[in-house]
Amino acid sequence: MPEGPEIHRAADRVRRAIAGQVAEEVFFGQSHLEEEGPRLSGSEVIGVEARGKALLTTFSTGDTVYCHSLLYGRWHVRRRGSWPRTRRRLRFAVHTAKHSALLYSASEIDVLPSHALHAHPFVGRMGPDPLDPTCTDDDILRAIERHPRKRLGALLLDQRSVAGLGNYLRSEILFAAQIHPESRPLDCDETTLRSLAHCIVEITRQAYATGGITLDPDLVASRKASGLPRRRYRHAVFAAAGQPCPRCGDVIARVESAGRRFYLCAHCQPRPGSAKLTTTPMSDDDIAKLVEEITADGKLTRSELKRLDTLMLADGKLTVEEREHIDRLLTLIGTGELVVVD
Ligand SMILES: [Zn+2]
Repeated sequence: MPEGPEIHRAADRVRRAIAGQVAEEVFFGQSHLEEEGPRLSGSEVIGVEARGKALLTTFSTGDTVYCHSLLYGRWHVRRRGSWPRTRRRLRFAVHTAKHSALLYSASEIDVLPSHALHAHPFVGRMGPDPLDPTCTDDDILRAIERHPRKRLGALLLDQRSVAGLGNYLRSEILFAAQIHPESRPLDCDETTLRSLAHCIVEITRQAYATGGITLDPDLVASRKASGLPRRRYRHAVFAAAGQPCPRCGDVIARVESAGRRFYLCAHCQPRPGSAKLTTTPMSDDDIAKLVEEITADGKLTRSELKRLDTLMLADGKLTVEEREHIDRLLTLIGTGELVVVD
């Protein structure tokens, strides 16, 4: 399902194509809205904006068309007269002299008076949207603190708390803030909640700017440089079960939270009430594998170096074999047989 960043990017494309233009023809694909098309045709498109996961198109007639793409909705912007090859059903279309903005597939669409938007059951109750440029960390913090007993894994999906977050964003945000999805705001101290609010704003804005990439930009650069495909440099933990945690090297796990898949590092995101682990729980086998990966090509990438760093930080807790593996690597780095690459 497209999340806030994807909807905001779609709104940008639609806005560039049709805002400020005369909507020569407006079409609705659902029978109960049939008559609205001719009524709006000939008016001007005053504005196109995203709010959370909703896209709002406002016309000079004083009407706003609300569209929620749900799971399958997809926006296409085309030159007028050209159509995408698709078997999906056209639900809403605005044709100007030059362009067409087309929304396909199952979508929730309403036409309502622009002045009554606040009364809309979805728009009216939406929480702050981190992609609204006026939204601050404090706005998000207050929205979270309004639900002290709600588990954060569920709270972050609730559009009435914070608008626009979906499944990949909540995994990435809670990983960045080092919070377990079962934690509730009342389990977290003030600093942790402030950090969570900051991560919500930062990561959502990064995803908007980059087209959905939420991994730390330095790691994106090093993973790209080592030739990894986009799915390996897009997210830190989401859809990365079995991969090493970019922070501590532990294995990323897939669990369920609020009925949907959720990815986390159990070491970085301990369950509420359980003490945070102080050492890296990499097994002998994992370490041997890491050593093998590193020595296979004689090159040490930045992310491998980071994992090695983590191991060395846990020095006092390492077994003799682990210590030997690491010593061997350090010797190879020292003699120049292993080269650090970007
Ligand atoms: Zn971790």
